[in-house]
Amino acid sequence: MIALALREFHQFQASGRQFLYLVPSAAVFELDPVAGAVIRLVGESPRTEDAVVAALADRFPAPAVQAVIEELRDVRAIGYEQQPDPDSPKFLPMMPFPLSTMVLNVTNQCNLACTYCYEYGEDKIVDTENGKQSKFMTEATARDSVEFLLKEAGNIAHMTFFGGETLLNFPVLKSTVAYARRRAAEVGKSVDFSLTTNATLLQPDIIDFLADNEIGVTISMDGPKEMQNKFRVFHNGAGSYDMIAPKIKALLRRHRSRPIGARVTLTSETLDVTRIYRHLTEEFGFWEVGFAPVTTSPNQQYAIGDSGFDRMLGQFRELAFEFQEHVAANKHHGFSNIKDTLEEIHKGVSKAYPCGAGLGLMGVSTDGDVAVCHRFAGSDTHKLGTVKDGINRETQKEFLEHHHIADKTDCHTCWARPLCAGGCYHEAHVRYGTTRRPNLHYCEWIRGWTDTCLQVYGDLSVRNPDFLARFDRVEAKAEAVL
Ligand code: SF4
Ligand code: SF4
Repeated sequence: MIALALREFHQFQASGRQFLYLVPSAAVFELDPVAGAVIRLVGESPRTEDAVVAALADRFPAPAVQAVIEELRDVRAIGYEQQPDPDSPKFLPMMPFPLSTMVLNVTNQCNLACTYCYEYGEDKIVDTENGKQSKFMTEATARDSVEFLLKEAGNIAHMTFFGGETLLNFPVLKSTVAYARRRAAEVGKSVDFSLTTNATLLQPDIIDFLADNEIGVTISMDGPKEMQNKFRVFHNGAGSYDMIAPKIKALLRRHRSRPIGARVTLTSETLDVTRIYRHLTEEFGFWEVGFAPVTTSPNQQYAIGDSGFDRMLGQFRELAFEFQEHVAANKHHGFSNIKDTLEEIHKGVSKAYPCGAGLGLMGVSTDGDVAVCHRFAGSDTHKLGTVKDGINRETQKEFLEHHHIADKTDCHTCWARPLCAGGCYHEAHVRYGTTRRPNLHYCEWIRGWTDTCLQVYGDLSVRNPDFLARFDRVEAKAEAVL
């Protein structure tokens, strides 16, 4: 008889129970006492089914152990030694894949000069100052972009206005919303709008427009005054906190039609995640706060190193468990990073690609070039087509072919790959000069964070399963724009 051996999973505990995260299927499986005992035994050393039954005979009846062994084999938590599971085949998505989110860079200019900015800083890909791209998108290009989106999208299309500083081109944004609404109704689709802004140009008429048109707003902001003013400065070096604080408060008072979120860039010098979270939720009243580590080459002094990732993970954990306690008590908590990952775990997401870039999400430059995402907008080497001529399917296919998880051999033994899939292409481009490489510099952080999210998921599956069931009802939403 062939011995049974463990297959690929990540084991974790939550609410005093044992769970497995099954890597090939990205499913979460709770272990009952019999299953826990079988896994422990087979984990000590491979052994035959009869040997497992015999070893557990004084605790569990043989039929119960045999049934559990069969179940564990079915879910591929265990399998026969010397009969490895076949590798997952490399499937490319069916084409044409519907476009879900189009990020429209209505300008590449900005009235701030944030030190770490990927568009203006030393790690920039596109020269938006002296390059060939227009500094502002015209109304005609924005309309072509709307037509492109409505043609490529399914019944619901998401349109995100982005920059530079998005509100520097408010007139085009405003006319585009009206045009997109009208055209979407004509073709029987619906379109949803959002924008990201640094908040410096918010004023009453703009706030009224955003509220009245139910436009989702994300404010790029780094926290309390000294953190905001460290990097988010005007061209003369002055900090932006005092200018934006009253404008954000006015926005939050008036704009009630959509929850307003803040998006924080973390650096080695502004890593106080919990303090930033409290400031933005308690002082300002943001509904949600999302954090992302700065994208930069490692030699910038604000780059986050290994000890910084450890510190960041500790604070993310603190907020994650605070989120867990709030949700268990049916209370809102605004730490958005965990919510997004919980949703992916709940839906059993197993990614062939780290994000929707080049697939369901694309970025449009001021001139109407379509790139894999907004961070590559205007880059000739990452161009997939134009809004006028459409997507070059061969180029898109080649991109998807070369960025598939199957080609990231370093990730093949990593249990976190269903959720990570190698990480952001832009980060990889900045770090390694190519979008094709996985971001191996932050694997420990990714695995630590994924383990935390799994623990919270396991806990909530016991204490508040209704909260998780809500993810079944939420229809696929726009990819996070980083
Ligand atoms: S980049 Fe690292 S954490 Fe992500 S899937 Fe690859 S090996 Fe795992
Ligand atoms: S994760 Fe990176 S590559 Fe993907 S959409 Fe965001 S910025 Fe672009």
